[in-house]
Amino acid sequence: MTMANTLKPALFLDRDGVIIHDAGYLKQADQVRLIPTAAELIRRANEAGVAVVVVTNQSGIGRTWITLEDYKSVSARMVELLALKGAGLDRIYFAPFYKTAESSPYPQGEFEFATGSIPQKGAWTDEYRKPNAGMLKTAAQDLGLDLSRSIMIGDRVTDLAAAHNAGLPRFYFLKSDLFENETQDLPAWLEKLERHRAGSFHFETVDTLGEIPLPGAGGV
Ligand SMILES: [Mg+2]
Repeated sequence: MTMANTLKPALFLDRDGVIIHDAGYLKQADQVRLIPTAAELIRRANEAGVAVVVVTNQSGIGRTWITLEDYKSVSARMVELLALKGAGLDRIYFAPFYKTAESSPYPQGEFEFATGSIPQKGAWTDEYRKPNAGMLKTAAQDLGLDLSRSIMIGDRVTDLAAAHNAGLPRFYFLKSDLFENETQDLPAWLEKLERHRAGSFHFETVDTLGEIPLPGAGGV
């Protein structure tokens, strides 16, 4: 058996606006509102043996607008609400970094912890922050993922660019409240994405998560 045969496809998900409603620098667990179709999609991926990985920019930590404890309590609530719907995540990656922050408000070691049974990993580096691909590439190493057979869902152009930069073949652009703003930036981004111009990176816009085929079951 070659190495490639042992690698799994993954479903990468942005958090805010995709799994939970984006309330802007969410800091309290009681503000967490699950997007119901997200739980259904995640459960479907669990049943199909597709790894489910959350990749979320959390610059609010770097800006000191939210604390790491706030972030942990919001995560715990999200995981709890998903579990109530029978949906489980494999791992969560988060990017606490913000470029104008001079240094991390926390020791690097504090960015690795577990939320229930779900490992979380953050790193104080711009490479983790979308549109860069650090979180997806780290996930691929940690979990043995085949990025060339994986997909991502997000609601911002920086999500789309992160998927492209990680070598994913396909991205689903979920229409959230941000969509109108985001589409203004889209043409400029697409101009920069080489693989998109070469036809080997595809994206489509979707109204709901229910329309999205899992990797291995459809488009990838
Ligand atoms: Mg988002």
